[in-house]
Amino acid sequence: MELYKTNQLKIYNSLSKTKEVFKPVIEGKVGMYVCGPTVYSNVHLGNVRTFMSFDMIFRYLKHLGYKVRYVRNITDAGHLENDADAGEDRIAKKARLEEIEPMEVVQRYTVDFHETLQKINNLPPSIEPTATGHIVEQIEIIKDILEKGLAYEVNGSVYFDVLKYNENEHYGILSGRNIEDSIHNTRELDGQSEKKNPQDFALWKKADERHIMRWPSPWSNGFPGWHLECSAMSTKYLGETFDIHGGGMDLKFPHHECEIAQSKTKNGVEPVNYWMHANMLILNGQKMAKSTGNYILPNEIFSGDNKILSKAFSPSATRFFMLQANYRSILDFTNTGLEAAEKGYIKLMEALSNIDKIEVSKESSIDIKAWKQKCYDAMNDDFNTPVLIANLFEAVKFVNLLNEKKATIIEEDLEEFKVTINAFVFDVLGLKNELKEDSSDKLSGVVSMLIKMRKDARDNKDWALSDKIRDELAALGIQLKDGKEGTTFSIN
Ligand SMILES: [Zn+2]
Repeated sequence: MELYKTNQLKIYNSLSKTKEVFKPVIEGKVGMYVCGPTVYSNVHLGNVRTFMSFDMIFRYLKHLGYKVRYVRNITDAGHLENDADAGEDRIAKKARLEEIEPMEVVQRYTVDFHETLQKINNLPPSIEPTATGHIVEQIEIIKDILEKGLAYEVNGSVYFDVLKYNENEHYGILSGRNIEDSIHNTRELDGQSEKKNPQDFALWKKADERHIMRWPSPWSNGFPGWHLECSAMSTKYLGETFDIHGGGMDLKFPHHECEIAQSKTKNGVEPVNYWMHANMLILNGQKMAKSTGNYILPNEIFSGDNKILSKAFSPSATRFFMLQANYRSILDFTNTGLEAAEKGYIKLMEALSNIDKIEVSKESSIDIKAWKQKCYDAMNDDFNTPVLIANLFEAVKFVNLLNEKKATIIEEDLEEFKVTINAFVFDVLGLKNELKEDSSDKLSGVVSMLIKMRKDARDNKDWALSDKIRDELAALGIQLKDGKEGTTFSIN
């Protein structure tokens, strides 16, 4: 039986501002949309945290037995420098500055994004659609909103009429802003706004001569507004009403507020049942900013190449550090915090290796079922990873007590303990055992070195040394095989 049938998962819904029991639209299936990156620069550490939080959520939903369709887009056009429909397209600007094609910018930073997320062991989403791949769908939505009278065209650009929408609906329902406050503070480059009201936002923008990225539409050669792509792609792949929409806290307004207005106007139904927002990350107690030097790139953590850090930290230690905070809390990224997390991570991995040394008894003095329930309770409580991790450290204590013979366990309980701890550490939290990988890498390195020394010995006709290396390796269970392509080895 699937685990979701016996687990009551609660999710904090940013829309209702309460924890609600999770009930998907279709039993056993989950549709989840997360706003992806605008690929015009190396992925920001704050974004890495957001995507890692949703990776953990994706992993736990899968662990519970749900069939999850996880859609995360790539914004490769339409996101202007200023979120309020003004300025240059971020990607086009980078392309102009670097004198390359916009799609070269997109390719370069999409690759960086994927590589970084892969390093911290994020699973790929089920679908990763791009804004430029869905221009047709976006134009169709604009036509529909125009027909319904909730948008208007000015000089080849189309704007959403927020005040008119607000007559029958509630603009600001997610962010809690009232209509007077929710002004998209537009100062167009020419100083003139085409909008009827400052709250309105662009669905389509006419491209000026400088604008490289442009598509034909009934209104002008131009490009879609940034908010529109997410309405188009989430509806296309997940339906008019889907289960979970996630993103960083900073996207609540205007981005997600606009998405709700667009999708609701187009489809006449609530687009999303559970809105989830991951909190931000600060560095040494302050906002990260390139200009002040209080800034770090994800790759600099893994290389240690940043003066903020005392040394390099592995992707798993970094991931473990981030998961020690609840996804809805602000995370302060510090060297001390990373050092402490690394120690904890190593302790956990050592305990996992020591589980195999545990001897079974005729009685259990540890209540494994109660411990296991506490792990599930933590995750069912809006994915509370810090509480889960506290329970995993409780398990580390069990392993030590059992190996020191200060506690006992029966075979059946030990099996359940192993399966549960492995599932939470590797499948749900997405950690890797880097210690294990490290030692097997080192062993391969040492054997390769001995093979090379044996070859040198043979080249020098020192048969005694050559045989000694082969025989002593064989005694350790390492077999050398000489072939045309050189010598290979296998470890028994
Ligand atoms: Zn979005």
